[in-house]
Amino acid sequence: MKLSHALIALGLLTATPALGDQPLKVVASFSILGDIVANVGGDRIALTTLVGPDGDAHVFQPSPADAKAVAGADLVIVNGLGFEGWIERLTEASGYKGPVVVASKGITPREMAGEDEGHEEHAGHDDHGDHDHDHGNVDPHAWQDIGNVLAYVDTIAAALEAADPADRDAYAANAAAYKAKLAALDARVKAAIGALPAERRKIITSHDAFGYFAAAYGLTVLAPQGVSTESEASAKGVAQLIRQIKQEKAPAVFLENITDPRLIEQIAKETGARIGGTLYSDALSGATGPASTYIAMFEHNLAALAEALGA
Ligand SMILES: [Zn+2]
Repeated sequence: MKLSHALIALGLLTATPALGDQPLKVVASFSILGDIVANVGGDRIALTTLVGPDGDAHVFQPSPADAKAVAGADLVIVNGLGFEGWIERLTEASGYKGPVVVASKGITPREMAGEDEGHEEHAGHDDHGDHDHDHGNVDPHAWQDIGNVLAYVDTIAAALEAADPADRDAYAANAAAYKAKLAALDARVKAAIGALPAERRKIITSHDAFGYFAAAYGLTVLAPQGVSTESEASAKGVAQLIRQIKQEKAPAVFLENITDPRLIEQIAKETGARIGGTLYSDALSGATGPASTYIAMFEHNLAALAEALGA
């Protein structure tokens, strides 16, 4: 009698605070978004990131462990704009019934229609009902403009607050502190790129991941591969790009952490442009690498650009 009373009392004592303190289970689709979500969620969430450091979300193949993480999640957060072509199949297969938050909601997407040969290839695939191409030629890499990420933070904070109202003050405070850091970073990037000689603000990367960056900070970016790594660069496209690099005297070509370096190395060799280092486009580095957070990624990319394009 006394023992059972003691057990009940113990059960109540341990169960009640555990319920209140249980972190919200959040799944983010890829490493860059995961870091942004972690900054807003802080210690109130338990975060799982699907596509990890140096991973390519364009061609990601979810594992059974990913389906399990999604099945157990309270909230799933994706970039949207067609970046995660696999997310619908994954949420369906896992039986997840909760909200899927699109972090890029409300930003102005960069439309690619009619700009290059890749457009025709996409149209061909659409005839076969390939659902990976549902989103046409919208550029998904909106996180390369810090202004867009300020909007991501608001969307993520609103979603966390709705899913976990008890912690809404913490999410709002985290979001405000993070947005202040991002705004300061944005000003640094604008000043540093603005200080480069205008005629040298031209870069070449393998896939077209820096269109938002170029538009926001005043650079020209050329890329032999389209906005997705799914399609290969055509021989004709590469030859055209090599002519363009020579004509415009683009000072540097850049490797990306998620793409095969060989195409860019070939272009460097044929044009005489120097390789200006590695830019982090679609994924962070590992924890000990130079781009382990979104802010560190931007600082790293900015330093590489300033070094290669400076007078
Ligand atoms: Zn990409």
